Amino acid sequence: MTIAILPARLANQIAAGEVVERPASVVKELVENSIDAGATTIRIDIEKGGAKRIRIIDNGKGIAKDELALALSRHATSKIKDLDDLEAISSLGFRGEALASISSVARLTLTSKPEAQESAWQANAEGRDMAVSVKPAAHPNGTTIDVSDLFFNTPARRKFLRTEKTEYAHIEEVIKRIALANFDISFVLTHNHKIIKQFRVANSTIQRSKRVAQVCGQKFIDNAIEVNCEHNGLHLHGWIAQPSYFRNQNDLSYSYVNERMMRDKLINHAIRQAYADLLPSDSYPAFVLFLQLDFREVDVNVHPAKHEVRFHQGRYVHDFIYSVCNRALKNELDLNVDNSNV
Ligand code: ADP
Ligand code: MG
Repeated sequence: MTIAILPARLANQIAAGEVVERPASVVKELVENSIDAGATTIRIDIEKGGAKRIRIIDNGKGIAKDELALALSRHATSKIKDLDDLEAISSLGFRGEALASISSVARLTLTSKPEAQESAWQANAEGRDMAVSVKPAAHPNGTTIDVSDLFFNTPARRKFLRTEKTEYAHIEEVIKRIALANFDISFVLTHNHKIIKQFRVANSTIQRSKRVAQVCGQKFIDNAIEVNCEHNGLHLHGWIAQPSYFRNQNDLSYSYVNERMMRDKLINHAIRQAYADLLPSDSYPAFVLFLQLDFREVDVNVHPAKHEVRFHQGRYVHDFIYSVCNRALKNELDLNVDNSNV
């Protein structure tokens, strides 16, 4: 064979292999785009576990007509422009791949209207070269991305889709994780035209606790210790459950780094260690924790789906999380002992 550049669609489908694993990954990418666009209201409509349709409607800043084609192209982003930006990422996105990838493995239409533009426009990318066509549309300020028939043209991928129920459950989990990190955004999630989850804007402490209870259960909040500690540029806050409220599965562990949801080994290890001799063996702690630190201190460009990060000072971050959580748990135990003496 001779060497040839791949057609755009095929190249994008290869890239999609890394980020578009299942409907829930599409939902994650699109909702994160809405958040980056400053939306305060995000609606997520799902049909048939996302295999039939995923539609995200936001009231964010929108995309100008003459940038619609770029938004659908690979390596095109409004979020970074040089290496300096890459080393201090404050947005959720920066790879400029999601829309191009998704539209190569599904039927995607993008409809948008920035406030400053009089009317809305709709775009989609067709054919092997993914040529973008644009036509007039009706839409309020903001953006709607409509994705149907996921993996219709990549049968190998489609085969890996699980049941509607399982795929929907993954989507709901993504929305819960995102809702926990964005109290100032309201979310509505529907499945097969029924509202399943609704999160209102949570500005006050009480409203925030309510949202946490909505996601993690009232029992979690009733058994949670609030932590909030700042030291040398690291800030950890959130809720950790008392050891008595342990889980038999690792199903209530939510951690975030600079508002980005994570499944980070270092963070999980630090937290488990804080609970080490307080939990029965084979059980898991429940927590919702937000770590905030200088964007320059953490590399998010480690994994295409951005599930992991790399800390420049990993040991230091680990020990900070460990000691804040361990101290909070020990204090709580002391308090309980004191109370039982009264
Ligand atoms: P990335 O998020 O990494 O920049 P994407 O492919 O997800 O790449 O999106 C490409 C570009 O399209 C973004 O940089 C942004 O400018 C624009 N965009 C995508 N979704 C939205 C949205 N919901 N609202 C406004 N702009 C958006
Ligand atoms: Mg994105």
